[in-house]
Amino acid sequence: MKKYDVIIIGAGPAGIITGTTAKMNHPEKSMLMIREEENGLVPCGIPYIFHSLGDVDKNKMGPRPFIDAGGEVITDPVVSIQAEDNTLSLKSGKTIEYGKLVMATGSVPTVPEFIPGHELENVFYIRKSYQYIRQLFDVLKQSKNIVVIGGGFIGAEVAEQLAQEKGKNVSLVEMEKYCFMRAFSPELSEIATTELARNHVNIYTSTKVESVEGENGKVKSVRLSSGESLEADAVIMAIGYKPNTELTRDTGLNLNRMGAIVVDNYERTNIKDICAVGDCSQTIGFLTGNLDNIMLASTATAEARVLGYNLFGIRIKKCFIGTLAVFSTKINGMAMAASGLNETNAAEANVDFVSAKFTDVDRHPGTFKDTSPLSVKLYVSPSDGHILGGETWGGCSAGEIINIISLAIQKGVTVYELISYQIGTHPLLTAAPTKAVLIKAAEMVISKLKR
Ligand SMILES: Cc1cc2nc3c(=O)[nH]c(=O)nc-3n(C[C@H](O)[C@H](O)[C@H](O)COP(=O)(O)OP(=O)(O)OC[C@H]3O[C@@H](n4cnc5c(N)ncnc54)[C@H](O)[C@@H]3O)c2cc1C
Repeated sequence: MKKYDVIIIGAGPAGIITGTTAKMNHPEKSMLMIREEENGLVPCGIPYIFHSLGDVDKNKMGPRPFIDAGGEVITDPVVSIQAEDNTLSLKSGKTIEYGKLVMATGSVPTVPEFIPGHELENVFYIRKSYQYIRQLFDVLKQSKNIVVIGGGFIGAEVAEQLAQEKGKNVSLVEMEKYCFMRAFSPELSEIATTELARNHVNIYTSTKVESVEGENGKVKSVRLSSGESLEADAVIMAIGYKPNTELTRDTGLNLNRMGAIVVDNYERTNIKDICAVGDCSQTIGFLTGNLDNIMLASTATAEARVLGYNLFGIRIKKCFIGTLAVFSTKINGMAMAASGLNETNAAEANVDFVSAKFTDVDRHPGTFKDTSPLSVKLYVSPSDGHILGGETWGGCSAGEIINIISLAIQKGVTVYELISYQIGTHPLLTAAPTKAVLIKAAEMVISKLKR
């Protein structure tokens, strides 16, 4: 039987970064990555296949960096793990032995079995599978009326892209008051929902899907809680994802109540030689220390780097504990991003905060052609001025400013320190130094804290 020092199951972002980082640190160890499909996709790029990229093959991703670093890759799905003797079985019938096993099996879409008609032909999900998305791409090309169920970021991004295709009538049904409510504050969720509507998506918020109706086994329409019925040639279910932990059956691996593999701060499980990383592993909220279920590529790759460095013992002490969901998107040309606390999750966790916002433009003077508005909102602890969360929206720089805010949250920066934060500015690149939007937002918060 063949044996490897390390076997990684899964070639998504978590698997690839774990493998590449581990191989970089331990070139002498033999490492194998096992994948299900020959071709992989950039998961975050999937919505853009349907319009901006216009081609499934323009969104390919593979474990090339791992291979270049000296790793081996095979395509042969793992069907079972025998943790008691450090072996696993493949679909082909082969058995392989591992020294250390990394579970990077990701997540799969939630199937809403409670919605009658969910099993009809032309009801789809956004699966992170090349073959599946290729088939979906072909069906959607032929579909005029498309109904997306679920206004989280995946459903919304897919709807936004499809609505830009000529001759398509795209509707989005969301049970909350606005789309994006799990990622953004109500204020930014409302802005994002308005941008979706401006992008010609027919929005049905505060609305539930009662059933998906079909004819001869094929989807025909979607019936809403309002009594309305939407004609549908295709339906896309985007109501969430769950950790893909099927392989843990009979292994003795501990799962949490959300079905994710329980791990410590170094991605180690309760079984000595098994680690888990990415969407299949548990996350703990940065601020509260409570279990949450953050499934983001940025989170998965941060975990993967921690694991890649520490697979054979703790070499680099993890310098933060807990997951800070940092999320960004672009709808109808407007960038939007969020990190950490907002009004909604603060209320759920009963966290005290003061917030303030500053809006200006991202060039100076604002008469340059490519000038966009830019807003920064900060959520701050009233007891000590620590930044607990932030939101940014407007021009593309919003996507990087949120990353600065995230670093500030992780490093415990206060709004008082932001006043002397030294920045670079240029007319063609940034807001004016006199009105640096992040610093002005900090000043706005300080003026509220003084009262
Ligand atoms: C449409 C979409 C858009 C997104 N946009 C963003 C974004 O903009 N920003 C962001 O941060 N996150 C985004 N995400 C989330 C992000 O894609 C996930 O968090 C990320 O893919 C997690 O990586 P992972 O490697 O843990 O899991 P996955 O990407 O799910 O990869 C798991 C891999 O394991 C393989 N596997 C599973 N079982 C087996 C088995 N038995 N044998 C062999 N291989 C197996 C699977 O085939 C898969 O390749 C998006 C997700 C989707 C679906």
